[in-house]
Amino acid sequence: MLKLARPAKITVGRLGCKFFPAGYYVYVGSARRGLAGRIARHLRLRKKLHWHIDYLRRKASVIDVRTYEPGDECALNRRVASLPGASVVAPGFGSSDCRCRAHLHHFEQIPAMFSERGVPAPSRRKRSAKSVNRKKTNRRR
Ligand SMILES: [Zn+2]
Repeated sequence: MLKLARPAKITVGRLGCKFFPAGYYVYVGSARRGLAGRIARHLRLRKKLHWHIDYLRRKASVIDVRTYEPGDECALNRRVASLPGASVVAPGFGSSDCRCRAHLHHFEQIPAMFSERGVPAPSRRKRSAKSVNRKKTNRRR
């Protein structure tokens, strides 16, 4: 989950220039191998821009990372899309290889389900219980 403090126009590779309202963004991605390495990469700012999320990452801070057992990434994405308040601001974002409208969802406020107990996943067991909190935005209980 990322937080964009101020609205921004961001050029996202081939998607072109998109307007991103301020707020919270849930991005659903996967890494077949090297999940820890991929997450570390998302957290890092200095890198070549490769994935769509890299472009947003330059302007937005990562405030939470959740990991799940390997499963259907698009099913998880649909669950995020169905959360109250979710909207797609950049169609095609992160979904070049699938039929989802986007793998990035905007929320004006942190979705309650996400901040409290995480997005319901196809598999409930987490591969890693690690949750990277850059800021203490998670109120437990
Ligand atoms: Zn998808």
